Amino acid sequence: MPLLPLYGHTALLDRFRDALSRQSLPGSLLLQGPRGIGKQQVALWLGRSLLCENPDRSPCGECKSCRMSSALQHPDLHWFFPRPRLKDSDPDLAAVRGDNVDGIMERLESSGVYEAPGGDEGIFVATVRAIVQTAIMSPAMGRRKVFVVGDADRMVAQEGADQAANAFLKLLEEPPADTTIILTSSESGALLPTIRSRVVSVRVAPLSEQEVRAFLADPVVSAHLDVGPRTVDELVALASGAPGRLIGRDSWQAALTQARRLLDAAAAPDRGTRLRVALGQGASGARGKFSDTLDALTVLLHERSRSAAAKGFDSEAVGSARAIEFVERAKELASGNVNPQLVTASLLRELAPLVK
Ligand SMILES: [Zn+2]
Repeated sequence: MPLLPLYGHTALLDRFRDALSRQSLPGSLLLQGPRGIGKQQVALWLGRSLLCENPDRSPCGECKSCRMSSALQHPDLHWFFPRPRLKDSDPDLAAVRGDNVDGIMERLESSGVYEAPGGDEGIFVATVRAIVQTAIMSPAMGRRKVFVVGDADRMVAQEGADQAANAFLKLLEEPPADTTIILTSSESGALLPTIRSRVVSVRVAPLSEQEVRAFLADPVVSAHLDVGPRTVDELVALASGAPGRLIGRDSWQAALTQARRLLDAAAAPDRGTRLRVALGQGASGARGKFSDTLDALTVLLHERSRSAAAKGFDSEAVGSARAIEFVERAKELASGNVNPQLVTASLLRELAPLVK
């Protein structure tokens, strides 16, 4: 099964085309933006473009390189992303490669429609070592090699892994002339500062409503969506520009439920309720989940503001709109190394007068 076509991001792709034609694309890049907007798809598109044999119209989709890279079979297009930890505590390069191929096959089987990695999945030190080892080799087929590292914030710092980590940092800082490294992250605040300072960051924007509709109408996508009784309009509103979030283990649904709980707590008259709900947010290890909750809270507040304005409840509309600003600030804090309970407690205090 081929990967889905890439939906949206036309302006960004134009920028990249321009950089490619001027050969000014940086050697290491970080694509950052919300989960579920297609950052890894954009990164793979860049990989195909870099490897294409017709640079004036890359990716041409016709040359041998393009045919191989679009089937993810190009030996110089390397795609890594979080995987469950291997049983062998010190796997060799072959074991890591084998597992990586398994992961890619799984994603191909669903045409690249996959859910966010689970909490037990990570990019472990053996994988980092494999990236570094492969990067110093010559390309197998073409003139270049490209590494796409999805959810790079899931790189796991491990004891005794300093050597691999340092080698990776050196690779990011000075990739070989024939190598491009593209990291993606929806939690870029969770990336090690030592990584962030060595890559050129590119912001990837959410999709437009029209693009979300096109994505949802793709038969491959609808086969992977548990739509239930919801209408397309409801799904479009739920997706809020990031339709990939609707896929899989209902994590977005869970985030919306939790966000509703937070809103109710903010509107509760007593401080006790707010604190209890904040403490229920969990302390750490659930950073991804927490930022999903905050994204969901933004979506709910937008809805609230819109429907209040439609009914002529102006102060409620303004209150909800102002509340969004506080949520956005909380998101910034949450993407750093801040305790979700503390962020939630102060956010609920700020929201209380706005959402009563
Ligand atoms: Zn081509």
